[in-house]
Amino acid sequence: MKALCTATLALIFLSVLHAEDKPKTALKPANSPVIVKTEEEWKKLLTDDQFKVTRQQGTERPFGHIYEEFEKQGEGTYFCVCCGAELFTSTEKFHSGCGWPSFYDSSKAKNVLERTDNSHGMRRVETVCKRCGAHLGHVFEGEGFKTPTDRRFCINGVALKFVAKGGQPPKLLEPASADVQKKKEEVAKEGGEVPKK
Ligand SMILES: [Zn+2]
Repeated sequence: MKALCTATLALIFLSVLHAEDKPKTALKPANSPVIVKTEEEWKKLLTDDQFKVTRQQGTERPFGHIYEEFEKQGEGTYFCVCCGAELFTSTEKFHSGCGWPSFYDSSKAKNVLERTDNSHGMRRVETVCKRCGAHLGHVFEGEGFKTPTDRRFCINGVALKFVAKGGQPPKLLEPASADVQKKKEEVAKEGGEVPKK
């Protein structure tokens, strides 16, 4: 019994040592967007359709004129209509026939964030712009499309700004100084929590 206790104590001691070995920089960067604006501010920057989709989780009607344009577009890059972050490129674009722009992956810039969406009685994965939190659409997987990932990023065309290869990318929206302060406070707050694995 005593030997067992000693062994347990040794284990506890070792695990404490191990815990202390862990880098103290394990703070997870906040997933909250760096661009934060009020609804009124976004309304001034966006069209009604863009606002409804990106800021109010709307969905554009399938097979609309933006989709028709999308189907015709050649090589190029797709940026966030709200903040100008690079989201997708024509490399990942594929024809799914669903009526909305489809991509099998986000671009290398990795500005597309995925999060669980339980709205409308469904369990889906929503895709948002990491920089400004714009709703883009949803991502589905395992549908059997012959693409490298078998994932379908089903994106509202109205949330995207297409720039043909060689064209000038849109100006990146910079955070207002108030946003920077807010972000700093959030990061400081998160730093106090035990980082999740
Ligand atoms: Zn954005």
